[in-house]
Amino acid sequence: MITLKGAEVSVKIKEQVQEILAGHDGPAPKLAIVRVGENPDDMSYERGAMKKMEAFGLRVQSYVFPADMEDGAFKEAFKAINEDEDVNGILLLRPLPKQICEKDIENMIDPRKDLDGISPANIAKVFAGDTEGFAPCTAEAVIEVLKANEIPISGKKVTIVGRSMVVGKPLSMLMLKENATVTICHTRTADLPCECRQAEILVAAAGRAKMLNGDYVGQDAIVIDVGINVDENGKLCGDVDFDTITDKASMATPVPGGVGAVTTAVLAKHLARTIR
Ligand code: NAD
Repeated sequence: MITLKGAEVSVKIKEQVQEILAGHDGPAPKLAIVRVGENPDDMSYERGAMKKMEAFGLRVQSYVFPADMEDGAFKEAFKAINEDEDVNGILLLRPLPKQICEKDIENMIDPRKDLDGISPANIAKVFAGDTEGFAPCTAEAVIEVLKANEIPISGKKVTIVGRSMVVGKPLSMLMLKENATVTICHTRTADLPCECRQAEILVAAAGRAKMLNGDYVGQDAIVIDVGINVDENGKLCGDVDFDTITDKASMATPVPGGVGAVTTAVLAKHLARTIR
């Protein structure tokens, strides 16, 4: 089984970012990362995103607000960032604390700065197959992993486990755009192992540590693991029980070191695209 490394895909995306920025005068585009509270997962993602922007020659600034911030005060602060001409793109770390209405922020964010595809305008573009907008970075990262490794998608049977608005649903639309035949599985899927075994490309995005073992993988399938979980020993792991699939899968992404590294590279590419 070949391990598909995210770092190698990230290097290719960096080249694309440099191409987009070639000949661009003035300061590099700037990303605003907006965080409310001190959630360790958010802080870890923020550190990774900041490192990536800097490595790609892009500007980045963190905007951190207290976890108990009132809805009105947060909206005012967010509006200022949204309207700041020096800010080219925004990454909002979610979920927000429950006193803040996330829907309102999704409606408020300028679609041209909405690098992670949370606004209705960008979601509509993803569902219409229009590539001018911004798709959610993680969903697009899955496509990038396949393309960077020259894995054909057109005509392939793709099964996605998970139907969230962050990964499963937008990814199913991106896969359709690539002419895959897509099956979406979720908690009510009747026979999940059977559905998964049909897949030529299996994408795990359920958020359940090591849930998919070798019984879920068809012979020579390609397995892309989006999950980021912590196992019983406190170690980072994916949704796939990696050691159990090595005799079945032909290729698979590891966790850590797989899709996660590509997600922040896609975010950087989206930021670079804001100068067009
Ligand atoms: P979510 O909890 O919003 O959605 C999970 C989906 O999986 C749901 O649609 C649910 O129906 C399905 N699901 C859950 N348990 C299932 C089961 N036992 N059988 C079948 N389906 C099941 O999660 P999300 O935000 O979509 O994230 C999914 C995973 O991806 C998480 O581990 C998250 O940490 C990870 N993630 C990774 C990145 C990255 O950059 N690699 C980015 C975002 C999310």
